[in-house]
Amino acid sequence: MIRNAKGSVIRPEPLPESASHPVVTPLSPSVVYASETPDMLDAQYDGDLQGYTYGREGQPNADVVARRLDAMEGATGGVLTGSGMAAVSCALMGLLRAGDHVIGGSTLYGRSLRLMAEDLPRFGIDTTLADPGDLDAVAAAIRPETRMILVEVVSNPTLRVADMQGLARLCAERGILLAVDNTFTTPRAYQPFAHGADIVIHSVTKLLAGHSDVLLGYVVARDPALTERMRVFAVTAGLSPSPFDSWLAERGMLSFDLRFDRAQATAAALADHLAAHPGVARVLYPLHDSHPDQARARALLGAQGCNMVSFELLGGDRASANAFTRAADGLSFAPTLGDVGTTLSHPASSSHRGLPEADRLALGITEGFFRVSVGLEDADTLKGIFDHAISAATSERR
Ligand SMILES: *Cc1c(COP(=O)(O)O)cnc(C)c1O
Repeated sequence: MIRNAKGSVIRPEPLPESASHPVVTPLSPSVVYASETPDMLDAQYDGDLQGYTYGREGQPNADVVARRLDAMEGATGGVLTGSGMAAVSCALMGLLRAGDHVIGGSTLYGRSLRLMAEDLPRFGIDTTLADPGDLDAVAAAIRPETRMILVEVVSNPTLRVADMQGLARLCAERGILLAVDNTFTTPRAYQPFAHGADIVIHSVTKLLAGHSDVLLGYVVARDPALTERMRVFAVTAGLSPSPFDSWLAERGMLSFDLRFDRAQATAAALADHLAAHPGVARVLYPLHDSHPDQARARALLGAQGCNMVSFELLGGDRASANAFTRAADGLSFAPTLGDVGTTLSHPASSSHRGLPEADRLALGITEGFFRVSVGLEDADTLKGIFDHAISAATSERR
């Protein structure tokens, strides 16, 4: 150990030896890793020796999470990124080049839409949006230079279900990469690689990490050469994850299966409850009898729905929407999803506020429309909170 004159130590000591080992992954915040000699560093860069070098290039906490996600998606060598949008960026900007054309689902996550509309064109990549539930519309958008189709299985906030079988067939026939943002569905309900996808993307921030305390993403291709290109792009562009976020995500993922099963079962029960409520105009839940894509949802997702439910207050206006969130005690009115606690979002004032009113109404997004990300509260507790908030909204309107 090197000590300064006053006894302070510059570099930490190696950890004390232990014949036993920790049962929890240690957090490794080191940004740099010291090699013994230039020869050994050379061998590391050549891939002949396994070893970390610099945090942006990779670190153990990220790799632990990536290997877990690989196992869940039936993938190998996936890349953990600093956010879900970093993963989307890897797929689009790491794989496409000027002159390529990409088709995006018209109901993609807002920032993915923005990347398509504002950023890819600046690099000479043309984009078209099409309804992923309408195979003819997607097919009509294909050009000779179409390289990729990016979709989400379940759309936000109307929870429409994409024609995944049709899209997989179309992409295979036309030699187009099918990229699936599997954030809403998660590998528990849907595994894109088992259904013909070429690229899988996650915002790990949401259900997988599950506690609203990390921003992370994950991306992997079925073809290892494509995954490698995305990994190199992530490292070069600095889309790398932090060790602490990775460590927290691993901890969150330990309970992912339990959380998902519980939340989706409660979501189904809440959907039934809201559908029967006199203060509710309509409910959207993919597996509910009233959902326009119920048959497709059953075929794709089996008994696992998702933890998201959307609904519309009967005759809801802004005043009743305000009254609803105010009275929804214990639920966060917050723009995220997949947290342990139930969260509410109001698309008319947030994700869809920029849309012209006519377009918003065409999607069915009125002032009374809410999206609910169901958490881990007891179903009965949740029903009670909703009943109370709906009556508050109803009396506000009168
Ligand atoms: C949140 C989200 C993203 C972006 O993920 P971040 O981790 O917030 O960057 C992408 N796609 C979907 C479907 C999302 O819900």
